[in-house]
Amino acid sequence: GPRVGVLALQGDFREHLAVLRGLGADAVPVRRAEELEDIDGLVIPGGESSVMDKLSRAFGVAEPLKAAIAAGLPVYGTCAGLIMLADAIVDGIAGQESLGGLDVAVRRNAFGSQVDSFETDLNIPQLGDEPVHAVFIRAPIVESVGEQATVLARVPDGRVVAVEQGDLLGTSFHPEITGDTRFHAYFLDKVRARVAARTAESVDAAV
Ligand code: GLN
Repeated sequence: GPRVGVLALQGDFREHLAVLRGLGADAVPVRRAEELEDIDGLVIPGGESSVMDKLSRAFGVAEPLKAAIAAGLPVYGTCAGLIMLADAIVDGIAGQESLGGLDVAVRRNAFGSQVDSFETDLNIPQLGDEPVHAVFIRAPIVESVGEQATVLARVPDGRVVAVEQGDLLGTSFHPEITGDTRFHAYFLDKVRARVAARTAESVDAAV
């Protein structure tokens, strides 16, 4: 299968590695810049985005990762990972930065202190007729969606909780803990398509 990294600085990266391996991907933890060089796609897990931001900069992964995203690396971010992928964070802690890539603004911990965590079913036509059971844990919302990004899912009150933009994918919730592998499979389709396109390009260049 394709070689897919999971950013393993902090958060629930083990769960993502397990889901990706279950789907046949060659999934590897990524902690250092060099490890970005031989992956076909990357998952950024849930956790705490402000900590992930600090660690990614301290470990020298943030800048190479931004460059890789700009060069077209497929990336899927869940929860804190979505915050990392957002071009803007409405309420980051002082000095918090994101990697960017998704043309959206997110608000952290957006579902209020009373309901830090909740579950709901989402209709996502791109993933089939069966609703996706979504688990939200101190989850962000996508507060505004720019022209480049597309909404994939909303909670029943209309707030946006899943977006995509080319080979970038972000969800406020955590498919890696529900046993529903459709989001990861959807992401792996993007990764495989990218690998195929790259292979075709290098064949073209060689003939
Ligand atoms: N509240 C966390 C943050 O702001 C995200 C929580 C999660 O990833 N489950 O990064």
